[in-house]
Amino acid sequence: MDNSEGIPGRTPYIPQPIRPDGAGGVDRGPRDIMRDLQNPDMLVPPVTDAGLVPNLRFSFSDTNMTLNHGGWSREITIRELPIATTIAGVNMSLTPGGVRELHWHQQAEWSYMLLGHARITAVDQDGRNFIADVGPGDLWYFPPGIPHSIQGLEDGCEFLLVFDDGHFSDLNTLSISDWFAHTPKDVLSANFGVPAEAFSAIPSQQVYIYQDHVPGPLSSQQVQSPYGTIPLTFKHSLLAQEPIRTPGGSVRIVDSSNFPISTQIAAALVEIQPGAMRELHWHPNNDEWQYYLSGQGRMTVFAGNGAARTFDVRAGDVGYVPFAYGHYIQNTGTETIWFLEIFKSSRFQDVSLNQWMALTPRELVASNLNIGPETLDVLRKEKWPVVKYPGFSYYPRPR
Ligand code: MN
Ligand code: MN
Repeated sequence: MDNSEGIPGRTPYIPQPIRPDGAGGVDRGPRDIMRDLQNPDMLVPPVTDAGLVPNLRFSFSDTNMTLNHGGWSREITIRELPIATTIAGVNMSLTPGGVRELHWHQQAEWSYMLLGHARITAVDQDGRNFIADVGPGDLWYFPPGIPHSIQGLEDGCEFLLVFDDGHFSDLNTLSISDWFAHTPKDVLSANFGVPAEAFSAIPSQQVYIYQDHVPGPLSSQQVQSPYGTIPLTFKHSLLAQEPIRTPGGSVRIVDSSNFPISTQIAAALVEIQPGAMRELHWHPNNDEWQYYLSGQGRMTVFAGNGAARTFDVRAGDVGYVPFAYGHYIQNTGTETIWFLEIFKSSRFQDVSLNQWMALTPRELVASNLNIGPETLDVLRKEKWPVVKYPGFSYYPRPR
């Protein structure tokens, strides 16, 4: 069961790249033992791992922080994780009153509030406006090109931003301050019909994030538009949604079917309790981009042609699964895993290995895999995204 035995009697425990059958050998260093402890299935991969699968994991802890008065941000894009062509992610925090300035971009923006509260604003092409406060478990979606802002409320906030293009960078958006700074003052004067001196104190470059005062209540900041408010809301309360519950966990799916504006991003918020597993499955529509909110687990990605590679994942990691590759995520810790599965797609779609087998002629499945009634009799026609069976769990490793 446990294939990462270290040197007995040593304190603290030092994991070694040795299999129970003796394959491998002691790593005398140089090495980073803290990282090796976090990556037991990478230090001693399952014997089923084989072939060339590229890196499919990157931690926000290995990114470069952008620090401003008012908050911070860091991102995982194609520059950090080259396989991730469909989605780029940004982890951002705003202080109470901190502002992510008025800006827009070519990509759709999907965001999940991790903690705290923020106020978001937007205006669409028809002059219809939007303002809302968002809290933990809420998400928002801004279509490409729609101008918007985010401001931390009394308790500040931290959130995950997702964009439907791996090449995106949040440091390369179209910002209101940047545009003002790079427009001749006489043009600003002609545009607004005021003297050029009115713009003598504007920022000389992109502001990005800045410290402001905590705004008053939502009602105090309402701006009446003669064209009304946006017809499809940009906000959705995902955590408040009734989940699909199965033994060992739950799944909440959000896509254009229940959040109509979100036509370019689909997602699922998944809970995997200790001892449980996101079942073997794949997605028939696009690559999967993952963000781990809590817990620790392992994922093996099956790429076909004998290739499979296992990754240890934990809170703050981004994982990636190329289109249609088979995978599972098993909880290897004592804490519940919460993670997001995100797709550049209008709909969430997954294919269950178990359900596929259950709905295929029994004789065919039996002869193909040489398995007997013990397995065939318990195949499930209903999809269980997360599974947990009494007596079956990841063997706890010495830590
Ligand atoms: Mn944005
Ligand atoms: Mn998946």
